[in-house]
Amino acid sequence: MQRATKIVATIGPASSDIDTLTRMVQAGVDVMRLNFSHGKAQDHIDRARLVREVAASCGREVAIMADLQGPKIRVGKFEHGKIQLVRGAKFILDAACELGNQEQVGLDYKELPRDLKVADVLLLNDGLIVLVVDKVLGSQIHTTVKIGGELSNNKGINRQGGGLSAQALTAKDMEDIKTAMSFQADYIAVSFPKSATDMQMARQLANIAGEEYRHKPLMIAKIERAEAIPALQEILDASDGIMVARGDLAVEVGNAAVPALQKRMIRMARASNKLAITATQMMESMIVNAVPTRAEVSDVANAVLDGTDAVMTSAETASGKYPVETVETMAAICIEAEKSEDFRLDADFLNVTFNRIDQSIAYGALFTAYHLRVKAIAALTESGSTALWMSRHNIDIPIFAMTPIKATQRKASLYRNVRTLELAHSIDREAVLKEAQDLLLAKGVVQKGDMIVVTWGEPMGQVGGTNALKIMKIGDY
Ligand code: PEP
Repeated sequence: MQRATKIVATIGPASSDIDTLTRMVQAGVDVMRLNFSHGKAQDHIDRARLVREVAASCGREVAIMADLQGPKIRVGKFEHGKIQLVRGAKFILDAACELGNQEQVGLDYKELPRDLKVADVLLLNDGLIVLVVDKVLGSQIHTTVKIGGELSNNKGINRQGGGLSAQALTAKDMEDIKTAMSFQADYIAVSFPKSATDMQMARQLANIAGEEYRHKPLMIAKIERAEAIPALQEILDASDGIMVARGDLAVEVGNAAVPALQKRMIRMARASNKLAITATQMMESMIVNAVPTRAEVSDVANAVLDGTDAVMTSAETASGKYPVETVETMAAICIEAEKSEDFRLDADFLNVTFNRIDQSIAYGALFTAYHLRVKAIAALTESGSTALWMSRHNIDIPIFAMTPIKATQRKASLYRNVRTLELAHSIDREAVLKEAQDLLLAKGVVQKGDMIVVTWGEPMGQVGGTNALKIMKIGDY
């Protein structure tokens, strides 16, 4: 059965061998995420090569997303790797400390003391440890432990409510963008952007680094800072999509605020013709168990019903015991949730305004397909944008982005309800329409006598020129 919602899987030590990657692709991964917070440049280069090899051997276009580390603020290392913090104890975060102990620990972001004031709340290790600032003395932040626990090397620090001054793109991110462009990553995910400027700068760096490969990746803004929420529309306008990065976001805005924010973000992304990925702890218990909890099943299904383009795995597939089973389970939940969807295209269209010819054709095709109950929509596309516009509305008819350009195929692999097929280069309209028909017949999507809707641009072979729509009967060519 066809699945509309896509799956982004993070790969890591548990999933970097050919056999596991092959089984993950067969189970339905659409995008493989390389997490640049871990590992060296060469590890990512090697994994990207493996992903491309495995995808080719499976006959699939699987996209690669390079997820930059960003300015994650972390404690330094401890003499013995970790300590236990108990409620009420005093603890110092010191930018000048080299090696930590029971009383103090170093900081990788040396400016942190300047950003803080008395009574600020610091959340460490994804919010599991809570410290309250008593005073700031030069490089030292003196705190009292409010919630204790184990604190080990390099754990993250957030301030409740956000507002830390660290810039979105670090020197490491800039190097990592070059590494990602060396294997032409299809997507770059930017961590902790606060504004459109952060995204514009990342895009510019990626485009410059990608120039020698004639490659321009799509840019995904990870929404994980409190400040990103009021700036969401400008961030969306400067990006190709967003990731609802629930891990860090929940620490900054509080767990309880995240579900409503997720819904709002997905709604805004779709209304702005941008992509949305829902991430973090979706199948968390499958790191160690072969089946998810009921709550995790509901979480994935609810993200599908919110309209997300993709659901994402993190540690479940990067370091968990059941990477393949996690993907299989997610795929099954998505399919079941999609069955319950209510398709109301007419109502959806009430507030849509557009003024571009190609966008008008995209919406015309959707509307026609919906009312004539055709079997499929074929968008013959160079850039993928017609398929993207179509995919911003819910419809129970599959959309096929057909393109001669492999990079477009890979980018479109994240679009909800869009499947991609490779079309041979041609500028002969009749030959291309016949090829589109034959491809759908060969895939078993249609049979002789079925109707489909096809869109394309004339003259053929140019980017951004979709201006034609045809209702086609299979067998007419
Ligand atoms: C998150 O914080 O939810 C997230 C996806 O980012 P990372 O995995 O880089 O922490």
